[in-house]
Amino acid sequence: MEFNRAAATALMDITARPELVFTQGQGSWLEDHTGKRYLDLIQGWAVNALGHSPEVVVNAICEQSKRVLNPSPGFYNAPAMQLAQQLTEASCFDRVFFANSGAEANEGAIKLARKWGQLHRKGAFKIITFDHGFHGRTLATMSASGKAGWDTMFAPQVEGFPKAILNDIDSVKALIDEQTVAIMLEPVQGEAGVVPATKAFMQQLRELADAHQMLLIVDEVQTGMGRTGTLFAYQHFDIQPDIMTLGKGIGGGVPLAALLARESVACFAHGEQGGTYNGNPVMTAAGLAVINTINTPEFLHSINQRAAQLSEGLIALSDKWGMYGERGLGLLRALKLDRPDGAAIVQAARDRKPQGLLLNAPRPELLRFMPALNITAEEIELALSELDAVIAEVRGADSAP
Ligand SMILES: *Cc1c(COP(=O)(O)O)cnc(C)c1O
Repeated sequence: MEFNRAAATALMDITARPELVFTQGQGSWLEDHTGKRYLDLIQGWAVNALGHSPEVVVNAICEQSKRVLNPSPGFYNAPAMQLAQQLTEASCFDRVFFANSGAEANEGAIKLARKWGQLHRKGAFKIITFDHGFHGRTLATMSASGKAGWDTMFAPQVEGFPKAILNDIDSVKALIDEQTVAIMLEPVQGEAGVVPATKAFMQQLRELADAHQMLLIVDEVQTGMGRTGTLFAYQHFDIQPDIMTLGKGIGGGVPLAALLARESVACFAHGEQGGTYNGNPVMTAAGLAVINTINTPEFLHSINQRAAQLSEGLIALSDKWGMYGERGLGLLRALKLDRPDGAAIVQAARDRKPQGLLLNAPRPELLRFMPALNITAEEIELALSELDAVIAEVRGADSAP
């Protein structure tokens, strides 16, 4: 198959895309229009929790789409009810609202916190968020994000999102006033380069929220659904948040996200929240297939085994090449390069023959790894040895160890 440049030009040019069309995928492998195969450690940006086109998700979508596609969000449907029940039984939350993207779920979390502030905190509406945080690309979630330059990109911002510094409790305390209703953060900052919050910090946030009658909101769009080795990342910290959002992995590749809240916080009145496609049975059926696969002790154990293997392999690469180590939780990890050649490594890995390797560099001096949660030990081995070869290729003989 030829690359159709005229058709490619019909798409808005919102990012630098390589001239590749991905036509098929299975598990940890993707295939492009020329038939070349790639070992995929991006997986749609941590979206395909079970890899490409997993049979359980494909079957769930096929079977549900033959029954009913969309009765309307104003009626109950069985997959949405079942998935909500599974999520509440597996977490500290009591109520679920389904959405179509992480940003939309976070918008819901912001609205819910503001509504709760109107009911219980005399209209307090400010939500403390964090430098380098990422919560989505709608106006409010961009305002909540702490990415450099985003404050002026589509000015004016939505107001009420003062920024603190991750793992610095004094920076949070300094921002609290009588209008502060919540603290919102990613348990592991993903787009910022896989920076975990510490357990002490998360526990201090919980105490601070309780002391000031504020809500604690965790954005688990990237960290939820087994990614960090527990079903939800907040479970690493021995705390219970008030609100959580999920996205990415929850749908196993299809647009599904969720807003979860404890009963005392789930205070939307009729008409205040909704959406045409929200909780539609095809997406929630896919979500059911994903959670039924992930939420077993055996599967979670295997995530942790693969994570340990990946971590050890990255440490060995770092030692060999004089890099600055690795970090992360579970199968969300990053390798800290000693120089800003992340983009060159990503491109050389993709261009490798006969098989490519798909990697992500969220920053010039950092590689991020977010493989399928069911990646095999052999595939991780292969990815590590290919990465070693790519680094040698990019850095040339001069810098060989
Ligand atoms: C990806 C991401 C989002 C946005 O999700 P979309 O589905 O792209 O809207 C929000 N928060 C975090 C932590 C993310 O990683």
